[in-house]
Amino acid sequence: MADTENCQLCGAQDSWRHSLMECSASRRVWALADGDIVDHVETTREPNAKSWIFAMIESLSHKKLTELFVTLWAIWTARRKSIHEGNLQSPHATHSFIVSFIAELESLQNTERPRGERVRAAMAGSTSHQIWRPPGEGFVKINVDGGFSRNGERGAAAAVCRHNNGTFFGSSAMVFEGINDAATLESLACREALSLAPDLMEDRIVVACDSKSVVADISKGTEGRYSAIVKEIVIRSREFSTCDIKFEGQALNWEAHSLAKFSSSLDVGRHVWLGDPRDPLISPVNLNINQ
Ligand SMILES: [Zn+2]
Repeated sequence: MADTENCQLCGAQDSWRHSLMECSASRRVWALADGDIVDHVETTREPNAKSWIFAMIESLSHKKLTELFVTLWAIWTARRKSIHEGNLQSPHATHSFIVSFIAELESLQNTERPRGERVRAAMAGSTSHQIWRPPGEGFVKINVDGGFSRNGERGAAAAVCRHNNGTFFGSSAMVFEGINDAATLESLACREALSLAPDLMEDRIVVACDSKSVVADISKGTEGRYSAIVKEIVIRSREFSTCDIKFEGQALNWEAHSLAKFSSSLDVGRHVWLGDPRDPLISPVNLNINQ
């Protein structure tokens, strides 16, 4: 443990609970974790680390407990690396490590198939590795989604842009305080795509949103509770050579979903990540690991 009483990453009062759960760096990893586990972590207020672990063992299934311990270990390792080696690991990188480590663990339980095949099969079962659908030739694709922070106080509208060959171009997220309507956040995510595209100097875009009603409202220019945003989207979309806003199911939109969820733990305002994927979760796309 550090010899100071303050967290060396954020400066707040340090404790085992702060380091592993409450520090902003740790919270960003938890934002990407399984919701059930996070609820348990947040609501079990045992002050002592040992009794907290016992409470977890009693209340979680073996599978979730494994996930919890791997997550705690990964967060701890990432903290050590950033404090002692100045090596900052992004929350997505930590989350990616957790997912692949658990997939590898699960693969060890089934030894009938070759190892590589087992790991791939286990990762295919993980919700974090889905397939991305490329846009047509000459287009970029911007997947968008909205997400809330766990306490519901903040919402994030996120957009992830890729070339049609899958290359990561950039992503952005706008974080809001006090927006608690999912459809409004989805429409703001579509609007965010129209801000990200000019940042990347892209003019022929396909925007994929996983809310059917928001896509329908934009295509019809419907008046409604978020009609001002719809109007702005309709006007701004005319500035592009081509701007096709369409519906795509959640399974294909996992990357924007993760980014929105992660971003909801960031500060209010706009966050942009241009051309530098850094995160393993952001870079391997169109990764049909079943093939
Ligand atoms: Zn801290």
